[in-house]
Amino acid sequence: MDLRKAVCGKMKRDHGLEYNANQVIVSSGAKHSLSNAFAAILNAGDEVIVPVPYWVSYTEIIKLNDGIPVLVPTKKENNFKIMKEELQSAVTSKTKAILLNTPNNPTGSIYTEEELKDIAEIAVKNNIYVVSDEIYEQLTYDGKKHISIAQLGDEIKELTIVINGMSKAYAMTGWRLGYACAHEKIIKAMSSVQSHAVSHPNSITQYASTVALNGPQDDVHKMVEQFAKRRTYMYERLSKMEGLHCLMPDGAFYIYVDITYYMNKKLCSQMIKSSLDFAQILLEQGHVAVIPGAAFGTDNFIRLSYATSMETIEKGLDTFESFIKENLR
Ligand code: PLP
Repeated sequence: MDLRKAVCGKMKRDHGLEYNANQVIVSSGAKHSLSNAFAAILNAGDEVIVPVPYWVSYTEIIKLNDGIPVLVPTKKENNFKIMKEELQSAVTSKTKAILLNTPNNPTGSIYTEEELKDIAEIAVKNNIYVVSDEIYEQLTYDGKKHISIAQLGDEIKELTIVINGMSKAYAMTGWRLGYACAHEKIIKAMSSVQSHAVSHPNSITQYASTVALNGPQDDVHKMVEQFAKRRTYMYERLSKMEGLHCLMPDGAFYIYVDITYYMNKKLCSQMIKSSLDFAQILLEQGHVAVIPGAAFGTDNFIRLSYATSMETIEKGLDTFESFIKENLR
């Protein structure tokens, strides 16, 4: 109860949103909250609209709960955000929910209030839930601010399941604590699912998370300052490397890099046909680990993370750069 109240306090403080403790569930990570949410709302064959690129687990969680992920490609010129027309044309009579992730993993994009209003309008008109994964909400840069879609009015709040957790803003990834805020009937269904699966997240983590949410937030701000420096450094270095194109991320801690230039070229005498080829050669021959974009539904990209020390980032980028210079044919 203390932790659920702390979540209510946080939602009020950061978003002006009123939730009572019966509209909050705490789970073993945001991933677990997502899993509970889809178990609660999906019937077999229900569709969930997932903008591409997407975080890897969404599609799998939807499928595990007998839902159908409906993948909707987004455009680079829209910073990979789903636009009104794209969303509207993906809605069918079977659409149960829209998956929204802002700030976004892997692109770092943040939806503006106008863009969120468009999504809210479509959701309300069609009576569709919005599963809004806001786990990176605190990690925003250059004065950009995260807005929760639930803030945009009572009707959309009723349809929104806000997902959040302690992994990113408080760097408590291994502590495994996530939470969801939604209409009481949804939280009740999620609680039933969770209660039969794992009961609850461990009590030590719950106490630690209560302190993190209720206590001073200075450390979060200090961490964001460091992330901002690493982001600029990584972006500038990558932008100077041959054939790599990336968007400056507005939030989260990833840079999504377009590697189209490398397709059908040879690295270490091996032909690159996919992001997996690129990542594998870079890992095995160059000893630098990146995530292939195929995991997020876009095969001509790789994802880099700056959630590591500046020293590691510098070393990684030095190695990456010289590896490409020496081995690209
Ligand atoms: N949502 C997104 C978009 C993520 O990137 C991640 C972790 O990488 C999660 C959820 C999972 O967070 P948790 O560690 O709280 O399960």
